[in-house]
Amino acid sequence: MSLDPAAPDQSAPEPPDLDQLRSAYEELRAADLRLDLTRGKPSASQLDLSDGLLSLPTSTTDAAGVDTRNYGGLEGIAELRAMFAELLWVEPEQVVAGGSSSLMMMRDVLSFLWLRGAVDGERPWGAEEKVTFICPVPGYDRHFTLLQWFGIDMVTVPMNDDGPDVEAVAALAASDPSVKGMWLVPTYANPTGSVCTQEVAERLASMPTAAPDFKLFWDNAYAFHHLTPQETKSADITSLATAAGHPHRPLVFASTSKITYAGAGVAFLAGSVDNIGWYVGNLSQGSIGPDKLNQLRHAQFFGSPQGVRDHMVKHREIIAPKFDEVDRVLTERLGGTGVASWTKPAGGYFVSLDVVDGTASRVIELAKQAGVALTPAGSAFPYNDDPRDRNIRLAPTFPPLADVTAAMEAVTTCVLLAAAEKRAE
Ligand code: PMP
Repeated sequence: MSLDPAAPDQSAPEPPDLDQLRSAYEELRAADLRLDLTRGKPSASQLDLSDGLLSLPTSTTDAAGVDTRNYGGLEGIAELRAMFAELLWVEPEQVVAGGSSSLMMMRDVLSFLWLRGAVDGERPWGAEEKVTFICPVPGYDRHFTLLQWFGIDMVTVPMNDDGPDVEAVAALAASDPSVKGMWLVPTYANPTGSVCTQEVAERLASMPTAAPDFKLFWDNAYAFHHLTPQETKSADITSLATAAGHPHRPLVFASTSKITYAGAGVAFLAGSVDNIGWYVGNLSQGSIGPDKLNQLRHAQFFGSPQGVRDHMVKHREIIAPKFDEVDRVLTERLGGTGVASWTKPAGGYFVSLDVVDGTASRVIELAKQAGVALTPAGSAFPYNDDPRDRNIRLAPTFPPLADVTAAMEAVTTCVLLAAAEKRAE
């Protein structure tokens, strides 16, 4: 899926020289652009798709007869748990439907591990001398800043097209008892678009770990976010882990943030029945129940698991042309130049662009001066440290299509200029 930097194409026209690129860049600056490709947010027209929610729920009692207006039901309402259990391939009792943010659930889970320890752990993680996480890179910035906030050490492994470099993961997990867990966005990863294959997932589920309470944070934020009609299925990590004798290893996260409303969706946690009981027990120290009315309106809005899949097709129709446009401009302007490679994801919210080593921060700075906001350099790496200073995350869903075109044209000029400056050094 990712392209190697293309070898210079013999038949391609001579690349523009430094002076030509400088004047192209000055023209760009004079155009006074105000464009933003920084965050993976749904656009307003995507949010409009879910406005049916605004007149729901039509009743306030759930399928089990519970009055959703009242306290209680920390694990979430039965019909929404059942719906997402089917989508995530677990039993309803293996799912919690919670508040509106899965990231907050991840922080809660880490807090509970830190303060109370895991169901299969000997002591709270906070009582360990050192806790280390394996982080596939490039990855999701907020995963890394959350670990940093806890004081958890991070070691990186490469993210490949088929998931994390599983040999590297297995070696780290087997040899060091401080390695307590790892992040993974298994499907259409942020930002590479990689999809973790069944084989890689099987290895992650079964590999021996020095820590008995090793946890796989399986953040399936983009499980249903296909950009093509081929709807890739995520590996069934909970079954694989159970079959391998490690039922408590995976903690599966998902949410409807990029299905319905990014600020008012529903987040889910799935895992072993013991993990779910552990989570709800700890959660009860700070909550008497979630927003069940929001959960009920989501259940009514979707109607069924198929309703979720059908809804995602409407998102695809809006955003796939934006991803096509990113690829078109990159290919037309940078293809064959040897100065960049990029992913062509089949789903998710991002394109990962690699430029000439040592120039990503310069590209981002040039783009900023020209009025195009890009995610800060290094943000897809722990401690903001991209050792090769080459990775740039592009997020094309939020701006209108015409802005995506203009922003990408500007980005390619900056990539070419930074590469030419580097050559001239
Ligand atoms: N995980 C990943 C990989 C994400 O990209 C995002 C959103 N950018 C989130 C989690 C946040 O999810 P939520 O809105 O459910 O907190």
